Amino acid sequence: MFNKILIANRGEIALRVIRAAREMGIGSVAVHSTADSDAMHVRMADESVCIGPPASPQSYLSIPAIIAACEITGAEAIHPGYGFLSENANFVQIVEDHGLKFIGPTAEHIRVMGDKITAKDTMKELGVPCVPGSDGGVPTLADAQRIGEEVGYPVIVKATAGGGGKGMKVAQTAADMESAFMTARAEGKSNFGNDEVYIEKYLTTPRHIEIQVFGDGKGKAVHLGERDCSLQRRHQKVFEEAPGPSITPDERARIGKICADAVARINYIGAGTIEFLYENGEFYFIEMNTRLQVEHPVTEAIFGVDLVREQIRVAEGLPMSFTQDELEINGHAIEVRINAERLPNFAPCPGKITQYHAPGGLGVRMDSALYDGYSIPPYYDSLIGKLIVHGRDRPEALARLNRALGELIVDGVDTTVPLFHALLQNGDVHSGDYNIHWLEHWLESNLQAG
Ligand code: ADP
Repeated sequence: MFNKILIANRGEIALRVIRAAREMGIGSVAVHSTADSDAMHVRMADESVCIGPPASPQSYLSIPAIIAACEITGAEAIHPGYGFLSENANFVQIVEDHGLKFIGPTAEHIRVMGDKITAKDTMKELGVPCVPGSDGGVPTLADAQRIGEEVGYPVIVKATAGGGGKGMKVAQTAADMESAFMTARAEGKSNFGNDEVYIEKYLTTPRHIEIQVFGDGKGKAVHLGERDCSLQRRHQKVFEEAPGPSITPDERARIGKICADAVARINYIGAGTIEFLYENGEFYFIEMNTRLQVEHPVTEAIFGVDLVREQIRVAEGLPMSFTQDELEINGHAIEVRINAERLPNFAPCPGKITQYHAPGGLGVRMDSALYDGYSIPPYYDSLIGKLIVHGRDRPEALARLNRALGELIVDGVDTTVPLFHALLQNGDVHSGDYNIHWLEHWLESNLQAG
């Protein structure tokens, strides 16, 4: 059993990991930049180490500073949270070279899945259904134009190193190809240092369905059903739920087994998410995230498991604490992402929280690092909280979400809460009848106009 782990992250996810560690009797070390000296994760951890100035490259992304913090405090393992160094294979290698444990997958698995072309090839080989498109990378514009004709427009040009919605461009027709190809390459180069791109058929009305998988690193793996994250703005998720309102138990069992078998075959260790687009009853793999996802709590709610605890267990070499047969869905859960952003343009809105009150009651979980008087620094992501509700069924979860949002008080900064109040008035949201483009269209005709 680990005595002490270090959390290489900040905000709500750092608290999430500290909480799991504390329940397991494991000590926690927070790291922080000078901008976060008063942050909740620093207050809540058993120990803390300042690792640098506000800018992330000099603090939360500084590998030497994080390794040094482990050495100073005697932490034996590192949990990376999501974002920052969580999918950095080089970091994992360095952690291991220092005799420390990385709480997450191997450097090799992160490398394979971090390159979207290699990821797709690997998944195809493992029997996972993929979006039709180019066979690997597309080196020249002439190749792109030829593949565009073969696959059939519309197509999407994607940077193999892309992430966070960056490095993707849609070509509706052949006339758009040159600009889509050049822009995706340029974005890949400037954001991720890699200009390789590939092409996929652009699905016009899919839902975003992702399968949670979990492996013990020794050839055993399970799936924990799906999450529907179709409500997105600029390819960023804002509202997530489990189970997916459009997925049948048979579909879940079929795609879940394909995913669990695939990760079992590669001896995957820890939590992972296999993302699909889902259209007309078919699943199409788009990418795998080799980390804990922001939206993992909806899965925890319906299965009654603690995914962070499991991550820590398998990193220690212990078995998972459940088998596939023991995993049963109970009710329905929804998460909304509360960002410090000003509507209608979603401009980041950092500043001082003059009043904070978290909602409570049956089936309500608020994961947030806010407190009265806290100043949200301008240097990091605008996510300030996740409100997760759990009910016996989807209507109950929606009613509970409405009730909990009404209790939440975040004064001093603008947030995305009014967006959720408005969405909860909408018939399509209540019937679960939407695809990945629905929210953008709704925003254009509602918020932006208003
Ligand atoms: P990222 O790594 O940047 O998150 P993904 O490959 O996961 O990129 O895609 C993010 C989102 O982009 C998807 O959820 C979907 O909304 C859209 N998208 C990606 N590929 C396609 C496609 N082939 N057709 C339609 N939409 C797509």
